[in-house]
Amino acid sequence: MDLRPENFQSVAEIEVAKVAQRDFVVMVAGVFNYLCDTAMTAYGDGSAQDEARAAGAQIRTNSLNNLAELLQEFETNANRNGIQVLWAADAEEACQLVKGLVEKHQVKTISKGKSMISEEIGLNHFLEKEAGVKIYEGDLGEFIVQLRGTLPFHIVGPAINMTVQEIAGVLQQHIDMPYTEVATEIVSYVRTYLRDKFERADMGITGVNQAIASTGSLMLVENEGNIRWVTSAPRVHVALMSIEKVCANFADAFHLLGLLTRNCTGQAITSYVSVLNGPRRAEEVDGPEAMYVVIIDNGRSIAYQDPLLKDALRCIRCGRCGIQCPIYLRIGANPYGWIYPGPIGNVIAPVIMDLDRTRDLYEACTLCGGCQSVCPSGMSHLDIMTHYRQMKVKGDDRFGGTRICIKERSGFKILARGMQNPGLYKAGVKIARRFLNQRSQDGYITQMPGPMSGWFRCRDFPEMPEKTFRQRWQDELQEEARQTADRAVAHPEAAAQNEEG
Ligand code: SF4
Repeated sequence: MDLRPENFQSVAEIEVAKVAQRDFVVMVAGVFNYLCDTAMTAYGDGSAQDEARAAGAQIRTNSLNNLAELLQEFETNANRNGIQVLWAADAEEACQLVKGLVEKHQVKTISKGKSMISEEIGLNHFLEKEAGVKIYEGDLGEFIVQLRGTLPFHIVGPAINMTVQEIAGVLQQHIDMPYTEVATEIVSYVRTYLRDKFERADMGITGVNQAIASTGSLMLVENEGNIRWVTSAPRVHVALMSIEKVCANFADAFHLLGLLTRNCTGQAITSYVSVLNGPRRAEEVDGPEAMYVVIIDNGRSIAYQDPLLKDALRCIRCGRCGIQCPIYLRIGANPYGWIYPGPIGNVIAPVIMDLDRTRDLYEACTLCGGCQSVCPSGMSHLDIMTHYRQMKVKGDDRFGGTRICIKERSGFKILARGMQNPGLYKAGVKIARRFLNQRSQDGYITQMPGPMSGWFRCRDFPEMPEKTFRQRWQDELQEEARQTADRAVAHPEAAAQNEEG
C-alpha cells in the first residue's frame, strides 16, 4: 500500500474491511478509555477533572502566548547547564544538524528513544542513508514498526494493532528470533538483542516531553527504561523538540505530566520520569560527555501567526483523542498516511504538509467532538478543522491551499443561493424529489450516476416523502382550523362560551 495522505480514501476502503483488526482496536481503545477515565478520578469528580483539564489548558495557553520569551529563557539556562541548543527551521535543516553532530563525534551506532518529532522529520531514514549509521529504536513497539517499515499505528502504542503472531513473524524475519508466541519470551529476546546494540551506541537520540524554561531542564517520560539508557550511556545525547514543547517552570511541567500520563496510559505516573540538566559533570559516574537540544519549527511558526491555528500547537501528545475518534477506530492509522494518525493528525498534518495534500484528513472528520471533550490541553479540534475547510474553500496559500475546483465552487454557490431564497428552495426540493425518487427501489435509492455515484457507493438514501415537513405542518394547521369551524357550526353555544372564556 502506498501510504500517503493523498491516498486516504483508497487506503481507508481497504482498512475498514479488516473487521478483526477493527474489533481488536475498538476493544483496546475501550480498555484504555476505562483506564484513563479511572486515572482521572484522582482529581475528584467530573467538575474537578474539568478544572484539572482547564488548568492544563491554561498552562498551554500561557506557554504559547509567551513562546518566544520562554524559548529564549530555556536556551539561556540550557547553555548555562552545558547543553548546546541548535535551531532548525525545517525537517531538512534538522536532519543536516544531527548529521553534523554524527560526523563531529564520529558516531557509528545510535540508540533511540521513541520520538514523534524524529519520525516527523524522517531522521532515521536520512541518517542511515546520508551518514551511514545504524539506528536502533529502544521502544519495543517502535522497534517492531522500524523493522517492519510501516507507520506507527498510534502515537503511544505504535504496534498496538498487531497480533502476537504478526509480531513474532516480523522478529523472526528481521532479527532471527526463534518463533514463539509467548509474549515474555518475545520481550526477553528483544531485550537481549537490543542491550548488545545499546551498549555499543555512541549517540542517543530522544524526543522531549517538556523543556522547562526556568531551569533549562528536559523532562522525558516513559515506561520501559530505554530512554534513561539512551540518555545516560552513549557519549553524546541529542534531544529533538518542536518549538511548542516548552513550559515556564516545574509547577507547570508537573501538572501537565499528571494529565499526560493519566490520559496516555491511564497511569498516575509512568515508571520512569527523567529530568536532565546537562551532560555528565566531573563528579558524576555516568551521563553523556556532550548534550544537544535541536529545536525544530517545521511550519509551526506560520501556524502560530494565525490566532486559531496557534491552538494546534497545544498538544502534549497523550494520544487520548485517537481512542475517542470513531473514524480512527474504524479505519486505523494507515489511511492518514503519516506518523500522526487520528484527530491529532487532522490538526497537525495540514500545518506541516499542506492543505491540498491533507484535505481528506480534515474533511473525513464527523465533528462529533469526542476528541475535544477529553483533550487535557484544551485543543479546539473542531474549530481548527472547520477553519482548514474554510481556508481550503478560499484557497488560503499560507499552507499551500489551492481553491476548490470550479465545479465544486459552482455547486456550493447554487446551494447557498437556494438555501437563502424560499422560492428557489421549494423549487429545488421538487426537482430533487422527482430526480431521486425515479431511482427508488423498495423505498430506498441505492445508486446514482454521475458525480453523486461515490456518495451512494456505501450509503442508501430513503425515498423523499411526497410532502415536506412544512407542507405537512400547513396541512395539519388547516385540518385543525377546519375541525374547529365544523364544531362551531354543530355546537354554536359551546363555541360562543369558549370564545367568551
Ligand atoms: S490533541 Fe489533546 S487529546 Fe489529542 S494527543 Fe494532543 S493533548 Fe492529547
